[in-house]
Order: sequence, then C-alpha cells, then structure tokens
Amino acid sequence: MDNASIRDAARALFPGGVNSPVRSFRSVGGNPVPIVRGEGAHVYDAEGGRYIDYLAAFGPLVLGHAPAGVVEAVRKAAGTGTAFGALTPGEVELGTRVRDATGLERLRFVNSGTEATMTAIRLARAATGRDVIVKFDGCYHGHSDGLLVKAGSGIATMGLSDSAGVPEAIAGLTAVLPYNDPAALKEWFGAHGGQTAAVIVEPVAGNMGLVAPTQEFLDALQEVPHAHGALLIADEVITGFRLRYGVCGLLPEADLVCLGKIIGGGLPVGAFGGRAELMDQLAPLGPVYQAGTLSGNPLVMGAGAAMLDALADGAVYQRIEELARHLENGLNAAIHRAEAPAAVTRVGSMLTLFFRNQSPTDYAQAREADTAMFGRFHAAMLERGVMLPPSQFETWFVSAAHREADLDETVKAAHEAMRIAAPVA
Ligand code: PMP
Repeated sequence: MDNASIRDAARALFPGGVNSPVRSFRSVGGNPVPIVRGEGAHVYDAEGGRYIDYLAAFGPLVLGHAPAGVVEAVRKAAGTGTAFGALTPGEVELGTRVRDATGLERLRFVNSGTEATMTAIRLARAATGRDVIVKFDGCYHGHSDGLLVKAGSGIATMGLSDSAGVPEAIAGLTAVLPYNDPAALKEWFGAHGGQTAAVIVEPVAGNMGLVAPTQEFLDALQEVPHAHGALLIADEVITGFRLRYGVCGLLPEADLVCLGKIIGGGLPVGAFGGRAELMDQLAPLGPVYQAGTLSGNPLVMGAGAAMLDALADGAVYQRIEELARHLENGLNAAIHRAEAPAAVTRVGSMLTLFFRNQSPTDYAQAREADTAMFGRFHAAMLERGVMLPPSQFETWFVSAAHREADLDETVKAAHEAMRIAAPVA
C-alpha cells in the first residue's frame, strides 16, 4: 500500500485516522506519514521515503531505532511466553536497575505514563487526606481526567477542563499555575495549602515545546509544598534516563517520581516510585488500589533492561548532548542567516525551535510562537527528508544513532525551510 491508501484506510478505522491525536499532523496542517520501518536515526515511509528522525517516538528512542541489544531482548522474551499474569524475574531485573539508578526505595511498573501519574496522584491524595492537586499550565501528564486541565488566563484559577467529558467536579480539584513562577506557587499555598495534596511538575517541561526551569522555581517546588504538608510529584516520563542515567537530578526532594518511555526500550511502559513508607500504602499492603493485567510484561521488561544496560556507563549521555549542541549551534546559525524570527531552547539532548524571537519561559510565552510558520516549516522539512514532531509544542529528541552528517543535513534543510516558511511581508 502507498502512503495515501494507508492514510485513507486509517481514516475509515480510527477517529482522525490515528490512535493518538498529535500523530494526525493537524497541528501542522499536513498529512500523517505512515512509517513502516526505523533504523538508527532514520525512519522510512511506505513508499521508501527516508527521514532523519527527531520525533523518536516522542522520547523513548534514546539509542535510535531498533538497537540490536533491545531487539534481541524482545526476541528472547517473546520466545518464552508473552505474558503470565504472575511474578517474573524480568520485573526484578529491570526494577533493580531502576531502583539502583534512581534511589527510589519501592516502585511499581504500569503500562503508560498516564497510569503512572494517575496513580501517583491517587496515592498522594490518600497519604495526605486532601483532594486538591496543583499542576502547571502547559505541562502534560497524560490523559487521566484530573490532569486534562489548563489554566484560565493570567493568574492562578481553579481549572477548567481541556477536554469534553471531564466532569467539573473533577476538573475543579486541579489548580493550574504558571510554570517558572515561584510567587504564584507561594500565593497558592498561602491561601489553599491546607487542602492541597500534591504538586505535579515536569522538571524540564517538554510538552509546551521545551521550556527550561529556573533554579528559583525548582527551589520553590521543593520547599513550598512540603512546608504545607503536601507532596511533590516529579513527572520524569520524558526526562528520566534522558538527561542522565536515572532521574534528572533537578528535584532531589520529590516524594514520588513518575517514569515511562526510555525505561521500556520503546515498548509500552510506565513506572512510579518513592519511599517505602509511601509506596507501601498501595494494594495489597495498603488501601490504595492499583493494578494491571499486562503490568511488568516480560517483553517490556526485557527491552527496558537491555536499554538501561546500554546507557548505564553514562557515555551515551555525553555523546547525545554533544550532538544536540552541534544541532543547536547549526540551527542558531541558520536562524541568523535566514533572519528568521526564531529561537532554539535546548536541555541535554532535547530541543525545540520556537518561531518566537526569544525562548519562552512559560506556556503563555510559548503560545506566542507563530504556529502557522511552524506548520510551513514542518512541511518544508518533511520534503527535505527531516521528520520533526508534528507540533510547535513538542520536543525534538537527538539520539545516539544520529551522526554529525545527519545534523548538518538537518541544518541545511532548516535554513531553506525557514526561508520558505517566512511570513510574506
Ligand atoms: N508525562 C509526561 C511528561 C509525558 O510527556 C507524557 C507523554 N508524552 C505522559 C506523562 C503520558 O505518558 P503516556 O503517553 O505513556 O501515557
């Protein structure tokens, strides 16, 4: 089947032709590219078109596509049974690696980041006996009801849901504050500290495009909730094992940590963990229920362990940061030459090119980016064989499979694409 017939068939099957909305390319005004194969830094469409890939499956593929160790581990696991609904040694093997790398005393594997954050919040509510949670505008923590909530404009408001079908009674328990605003956090806790169970945050925000945290914000996150008896939940679904081996290190005082993506080697996974005293409130030891038919699945555990084995000595992190810096420098030079109204934000191997004169520090600023220009840029990059995440508000991921030559080709394409995408004066 060619690209168009796969798309057409998908449209008759799945709402919007996809099984997850950003994949529809609606935010960039294009058509989704059906991918049939990935190898290293490249993906291939159904017609043999090749793209340098920075989407990287939205984050898990820190070694690029189909790394030999991970593929072999999945084959091996599949050959001895795909699921048991019973304790398996694979869970212990990956669990031990995650615990040793993160310092989390107890953890539990689930099947997605959504499940990890959803359950961490349930646990925080049970542990504190409080109902309200605080999240930050533009941070994404998966699609459970209480987390599909954004702020009204400006100062903190109790949330209105971002999605139909979320009862007001649930959305109303989520307060949304601006990212990187310690004063707003203090103000919230000054007024509502006694009702607030937890603050959940992406230590580096990756879902409004990449937005780096300030040290003042990180300090406030670790002080203010604790001063009021609330918990801090670090959502490291993207940053865990991406910025370094283990948690990213920006929120050492977090009570609960959510993981996903990389620790499953590209298979469906999530995990959350923390102190034993807190985690042991989960069933069957405690009253907080959580479960999963396929949680700790042997294929996922094998893939995750092989992935972490390849990352454990830390060399990959140095390499991917160097590569990402090379790309950042090239993109900045291209912006300068094309006189484009754009800025690059980078943290480690994560980056976003914003069509805004300066890198944003919060979602209000990120939303000022010229998304129509990003759409034209995205299409021109695709024509030149570069697969970027199909939205201005996503992060590009550099992997250990990228080569300098890929990055240089990307920069050359970006220079041309910026000129093509420029608004007509
Ligand atoms: N938290 C963060 C920070 C994420 O980026 C995501 C997904 N991109 C999630 C949670 C939800 O993970 P999943 O899509 O696996 O449910």
